[in-house]
Amino acid sequence: MKKRWYVLLIIILLLVISFMQRKDLILLNINVDSEIKTIMKEKLSAQDLFNIWRTNYNLDNLSKEIKLDDYQYKNQGLYDVLTNNGAHNYQLVIKKSNAYLNEGNSIDEIKALIKNDDNKTYFIKMIDEGIYNEIDAKMVINPEKILSIANYRNNIYKYVPNDLELVNDVPLFDNDQYFLRKDTHQALQSLCDDLEKTFSNKCGDLVITSTYRSYQEQKELFQSELNKSNANIKLVLPAGASEHQLGNTVDMMVSYVTKENYQNTKQYQWIAKHAAEYGFIIRYPQDKEAITKISFEPWHLRYVGKEDASQIMSQKLCLEEYVDENK
Ligand SMILES: [Zn+2]
Repeated sequence: MKKRWYVLLIIILLLVISFMQRKDLILLNINVDSEIKTIMKEKLSAQDLFNIWRTNYNLDNLSKEIKLDDYQYKNQGLYDVLTNNGAHNYQLVIKKSNAYLNEGNSIDEIKALIKNDDNKTYFIKMIDEGIYNEIDAKMVINPEKILSIANYRNNIYKYVPNDLELVNDVPLFDNDQYFLRKDTHQALQSLCDDLEKTFSNKCGDLVITSTYRSYQEQKELFQSELNKSNANIKLVLPAGASEHQLGNTVDMMVSYVTKENYQNTKQYQWIAKHAAEYGFIIRYPQDKEAITKISFEPWHLRYVGKEDASQIMSQKLCLEEYVDENK
């Protein structure tokens, strides 16, 4: 009986030794310095090492990353995608890639996103500067849906709504042409009518300062921010990430009041109370900056239809929370 156990133990020992030797053997053929070899031996399986050797894998990034906190070889593919596209903050690359992939997301979405040069600059900057906690940026599949979200995580790329109308019958900030989707346009007109009934002057002295903004316009806006020496990419979203491109967003302000004071006007108080009756929400409410990544914007209204608007406004949610809860 005892003899058998010894035999078994010896076999196991032999297996372990041969397995370790196998790692050493493969490492002999991998061209990195000894410090990295030691870590590779510790963190990678013989199979992984074998694959690295067999595919003649480029070890430049891995050598820098493998010694850092939270390194996970199974996520190396995404580390490579990001670093090969210009991200150099290796520790952040690791943390963000892990957070993204360990939640079950696919690396292909990031690849698709980075393929688009306009987004690339933004996402790489976002990662390198540690601005957000995760990469989690996706292409929006159906941007025309009424509750679609366009933000730093959800990119609508070159989407153009197919029912844009030239905005009329409401006071405009300047002589530019303004466009909105059909339903949003109608809702805005009736909101303006009732503002006039309540505050007498046309649209209650409010003017429309921004509506639909094209991919190209947003791209130029973002590029001019990037060109500044003190660029703050938290202020301007990149092309495809601005809600204005959805065509159901309106910025409106009292014509004779500054941006800062608009929230104190009786017109704004009225809109905050009644917007939902027309299908609008205050899209970037106070105290939701942690979620929206955009500070309070009392002038920015988003059309979502009456039913959803009244839910969102009465439950004091932002659109991200509401969509999340109603998945
Ligand atoms: Zn706006």
